[in-house]
Amino acid sequence: MKKVSVLGSTGSIGKSTVDLIKHNPDDFEVVALTGNQNIELLAAQAIDLSARLVVTADAKKYKELKNLIGSHSIEVAAGRDSVIEAAQRSSDVIIAGIVGAAALEPTLAAVRRGAVIGLANKESLVCAGDLVTAEVKKSGATIIPVDSEHNAIFQVFDFNDVHHIEKVILTASGGPFRNSTIEQMASVTPDQAVAHPNWSMGAKISVDSATMMNKGLEMIEAFHLFPIGKEQIDVVVHPQSVVHSMVSYVDGSVLAQMGTPDMRTPISYALAWPQRLPTRSAPLDLIGIGSLNFEAPDPIRFPSLRLAREALQTGGSAPTVLNAANEVAVSQFLKGKIGFLDIFDVVEKTLGKVSHSTLEALSDVLSLDEDARKTAASLA
Ligand code: NAD
Ligand code: MG
Repeated sequence: MKKVSVLGSTGSIGKSTVDLIKHNPDDFEVVALTGNQNIELLAAQAIDLSARLVVTADAKKYKELKNLIGSHSIEVAAGRDSVIEAAQRSSDVIIAGIVGAAALEPTLAAVRRGAVIGLANKESLVCAGDLVTAEVKKSGATIIPVDSEHNAIFQVFDFNDVHHIEKVILTASGGPFRNSTIEQMASVTPDQAVAHPNWSMGAKISVDSATMMNKGLEMIEAFHLFPIGKEQIDVVVHPQSVVHSMVSYVDGSVLAQMGTPDMRTPISYALAWPQRLPTRSAPLDLIGIGSLNFEAPDPIRFPSLRLAREALQTGGSAPTVLNAANEVAVSQFLKGKIGFLDIFDVVEKTLGKVSHSTLEALSDVLSLDEDARKTAASLA
């Protein structure tokens, strides 16, 4: 039996993780589950899986959560610090499925105890990649990427022969507006933006997929996850989301990992690593799919890729600012306060306004993140 904890168990990644644990009851026992606002679901999951600890990030919801847990012998806690403590609890694997930079501190807490981390949350690597990787080296923690592209690369990346790797090629679905004109994109609603053609995901990453900022964040994520240079990361649009990403070698070999677009596959990989776990995801039906297409991303309609590549090149604090500005802009768009194309504008202007700083400690990242959010909010 593996001991497992799930940060963000009530989200899209979290629910898929809970589903896998539930269907493999002989393989896992649950140490801790954490959520935020949806405490009804959180409590139901904790009772269902007999978790030892359940935590809501919202300190005001402690009593309500405690009442929902009732007489079950499950420890209940609330607040940001309790989420961090949940990440510190010993477990064989922990899934990091909180959305946004809010995941940084709990993820770092898991890294510092040398955990095996199934990392779905890409924002922590984007906003503090140098810090996280330095801590991974110190503690000997293991990061298994859950983001489907990075999970694909992880599966075909020869870590023992890095010198013969030419490139990693991230595939992107192109999102719901792949074929839209810029005029059409100007007036899209939040509902249209979160309706992803292939994947069912939380609202924030769905908007990121629609702007293709998701792929920009993923380029930065890839740089921190794999021993490669900034110039060795390519993006290709692949509307079917069957090839989840590729690694090309100097001899012309290109290795890909394929599968149906179902996050249970990469999550199960992280949960079971270094073994494998059967999932109930539909088998890949290549004959039914018929053909696979690939095209170049359009830099005019999707300036997010340029913004992210520039931030990656600049390094230091630029990716932190990019991430914070994007989180603010996406949240304002989802609230109907700004238009879809304004997201690019807010991110670009914030990057131009917030001055560079060196990020040595977690406190540097958190204060820059806060500054960038304030600037972005004033522009949105
Ligand atoms: P989601 O919005 O569905 O779920 C987010 C989870 O985080 C919820 O459990 C929520 O309660 C929790 N949360 C939100 N704010 C919090 C806070 N301030 N403190 C503590 N917990 C908080 O998001 P998701 O789609 O599951 O995505 C989670 C992460 O995984 C993101 O970083 C995303 O980029 C990444 N990811 C998701 C998918 C996917 O298919 N959904 C795929 C690849 C990567
Ligand atoms: Mg992805």
